[in-house]
Parts: sequence; structure tokens; C-alpha cells
Amino acid sequence: MPVPKNAMEIFQLLDKSNCRDCGEKTCLAFAGAVFRGQKKIEECPKLDRNVVERFSGDPTDRNTIEENQEKFLAMMKQKIAGIDLVSATERTGGRFENGRLTLKILGKDFSVDGIGNLYSDIHVNPWLAAPFFDYVLNGKGVYPTGQWVSFRELKNGKDRYPLFQKRCEEAMKRVADIYTDLFDDMVHLFSGRQVDRQFQSDISVVLHPLPKVPIMICYWMPDEGLSSSLNIFFDETADRNLDIGSVFSLGAGLTQMFQKLAIRHGFTEAAG
Ligand code: SF4
Repeated sequence: MPVPKNAMEIFQLLDKSNCRDCGEKTCLAFAGAVFRGQKKIEECPKLDRNVVERFSGDPTDRNTIEENQEKFLAMMKQKIAGIDLVSATERTGGRFENGRLTLKILGKDFSVDGIGNLYSDIHVNPWLAAPFFDYVLNGKGVYPTGQWVSFRELKNGKDRYPLFQKRCEEAMKRVADIYTDLFDDMVHLFSGRQVDRQFQSDISVVLHPLPKVPIMICYWMPDEGLSSSLNIFFDETADRNLDIGSVFSLGAGLTQMFQKLAIRHGFTEAAG
């Protein structure tokens, strides 16, 4: 079973009608989702059966996903070169100076120049860079309403929720279970804001991984035989500012950042 080598390879196989039957807005978004292991190639009903048989396989192979991510990012970078960053300023909630569009990501400056080069004081892993590009390229600029919804309530989120739950919510919960300063560090290191406890959780923190895409992380501590629990909520407008694949990436990127932070604090089992 050959694995697609890059985003373009899979994109070239599609009929490019952007018909949305796969649940993605565009064939390009579908190609990206296949790269990231979030969609299976057979979910495009317009593909020839022979093509599906040639390329289908386990999309969750970690090495393949990471390799594909890099290639997907290179493609997004090329697309950035084709847009006017000045006109994206208001839509994205950023500022334009010295030839760069700068957005606040988790309270830190994160910039892109006219040829797609990224600049930041913080290390941003590819899981966060991909949604950044998607937000700049395709975000509608809709302001958050303050209505929190779960991943599965976002457009096209239902099918991917089991994977989101496993890769993001359960993995982040394992970090929170052992790394008791996690939520304080979210506030201090990532400009988070502790808010009134939502949904009867013990801790609720709001973060801004992108200016118009806030997320809320709620944690329920273990209690009387009940195990702990963690849920990630998004503003109901998130699916208009980001493709669902990018919303997934955002959750995965934050999880990875928190795992690394926990490991730096000596909690080696956080990576499990
Ligand atoms: S169903 Fe296939 S052709 Fe239609 S948008 Fe999705 S990838 Fe493109």
C-alpha cells in the first residue's frame, strides 16, 4: 500500500470540484485532513475505486503523519505568498508592521511575512503552525459570542470526536492528573484566564491560541471513587474561523505543549 508522499500527491487525485461531499470545504482541505490522519481517502465518494485501493491504509501511523505535516506546512506557506497580509489584519485580529502580520498566540507574538516565513519568541510545533496558516488564509474573522460548545458540536466535528477525545482530551487529562501546576502555568505562561467554574468543573481556564478562537479547558478532579475528567470547549464560532481539521490540530498542539512542559518539570509519564 503506497502512502501518499505529500499533500499535492493526494490533491492531484481528487476531482477538485470542492463539492463538500466528504465534509470538507475544499478538496485541498480534504487532502490536508488525509495527511494529518484525520480523514480516510475513501471518504471522498468521487474517487475511483482503484485509487482508493492503492492509497488506503492506516492513516494514524505517527511517522507518516509527521512527515506529511511538514509537507502540508510547506504547501500552506506557498499559499500565504499569494495573499495580501495587510488586508488580513482586521479579519485575523492581528497587526501589520515591518512587512509582517503579527497575531497573539497564547499571549505571545507570532508573525508571518509575505513569503510565509514564521517568526516567534516561542517554539510552536507543527500542530499549532497548521491552524495558524488556516486561520490567516481562510478564517472568516467572526467574533466569538461566548457560547461554549464541545468539539463534536462544531461543524463536521461529530465523526472526528472519538479521535479528538483520545488524542487531546484524554491525553491532556493524564497531564493534568500528575502535573498539578498545569492550570496555574496555563495562566502564567500562556496568558490564560481562570474563569468561574463552568459545567460544574473544579477548574476552568480560557486560553487564546488564536485571537478570535478562544478555548476553555475544564477539569474535574477525582472524587469519591469517580475518576478525573477533562473537556475542551470551543466558542460556537470556531468552525467559521477554522476548518475542523485545524480545530483538531489546535487541540493536539496544545496537548503536546503541555506534555512537554510536564516532562520539563520532571513528570516523565506525561508523554504516555
Ligand atoms: S468529496 Fe472529494 S471532490 Fe468533493 S470536496 Fe471532498 S475531496 Fe473534493
